[in-house]
Amino acid sequence: MTKSIETDILIIGAGPVGLFTVFEAGLLGLKCHLVDNLDKIGGQCIELYPEKPIYDIPGVPNQTGKEHIDSLLKQIEPFDYEVHLNQRVDRIEQSGDYWIAETTDGISFKTLNIFIAAGAGSFEPRKPPVESPDKFLGKGIDYAVRSVDKYKDKDIVIFGGGDSALDWSVELANKAKSIKLVHRRDDFRGAEHTENKMRNFVASGEIELKIPFVIKSIVGGKSFEGVEIMNFETKETEVINCDEALFFFGLSKQLGPINDWEIDLNERKVQVDTEKFETNQKGIFAVGDINTYPGKLDLILCGFHETTLAVQEAFKRINPGERVPFGYTTSNKGLQEKLKVSGS
Ligand SMILES: Cc1cc2nc3c(=O)[nH]c(=O)nc-3n(C[C@H](O)[C@H](O)[C@H](O)COP(=O)(O)OP(=O)(O)OC[C@H]3O[C@@H](n4cnc5c(N)ncnc54)[C@H](O)[C@@H]3O)c2cc1C
Repeated sequence: MTKSIETDILIIGAGPVGLFTVFEAGLLGLKCHLVDNLDKIGGQCIELYPEKPIYDIPGVPNQTGKEHIDSLLKQIEPFDYEVHLNQRVDRIEQSGDYWIAETTDGISFKTLNIFIAAGAGSFEPRKPPVESPDKFLGKGIDYAVRSVDKYKDKDIVIFGGGDSALDWSVELANKAKSIKLVHRRDDFRGAEHTENKMRNFVASGEIELKIPFVIKSIVGGKSFEGVEIMNFETKETEVINCDEALFFFGLSKQLGPINDWEIDLNERKVQVDTEKFETNQKGIFAVGDINTYPGKLDLILCGFHETTLAVQEAFKRINPGERVPFGYTTSNKGLQEKLKVSGS
């Protein structure tokens, strides 16, 4: 079913630059909706390096990827915005001065301004190397946990050896009826403390480790029945009957639908001007890692600059003929009141 939402700015991508767009738009009284394909906010900072320190955010000597996203979320708290996760913006079409953008979950946005803050493209889950991996998608097979309740009192098989496989094995250990964690070798790439927790659950019987196994096929006719796994060394196979199988084989970055939006591209990046960071389509802006222009650097602080200027143009499109109100945040009483900080 399609849900329609009208908004001042639609932001595609909830990475750091998408989040900071909410701040700059909020200062001008504009409302934003953010859409991200991932199941969490934060883009590369959360998906690729949550625990690594960043040293080049002005005024912040160092901050991990996760701390940086947490700070941005705190910073945009006073403003009016909504986030729609687990869905991709797939289609964009023009309707008069407006743009209509549709997501894979059936939301249709009507807006004058689209900000593509899509980083290196949409993060897409790597699928298991079996025939028709998506045959039971959402009905036994998943690549992300959308709701923990779905797995309560269920027999679950989790595949993978990184952070997501470890995190969800630990998180679901006391909630699922049984958990089998399948990995090709006894060597995990996730955080050490999560691996330790997982091994404690193995010792107490809440998690069964299946090593060295890989997926061979998905079992089921009309409905999902389980998975067939293969011993990586002996090549022997076994079938595990289960209610749900979760595959965490990492993510690949896809430019995907952006290719079809009649936007000028330059080597897989969106070409923009350096005044408004607008594309060849009026009202479609590209900010952060996704864009390119002479001298472009893929740095968070560059994305912050770009979106600050782009938001000015978005305001003008919504309020034609009006001067864009400029004011220092140090003098913004309304913002200080909302944030409950002192300033003058
Ligand atoms: C290991 C590592 C270390 C780094 N260290 C630093 C550093 O020290 N300093 C620094 O400044 N930068 C650093 N960077 C780069 C920095 O992370 C990027 O510049 C920054 O994340 C770009 O932010 P963004 O918001 O433009 O895009 P991203 O963070 O890439 O977020 C884009 C989001 O858009 C989503 N998306 C894309 N297409 C769609 C679609 N069609 N529909 C829905 N969602 C979509 C993606 O899923 C993603 O979540 C580092 C990068 C890496 C990988």
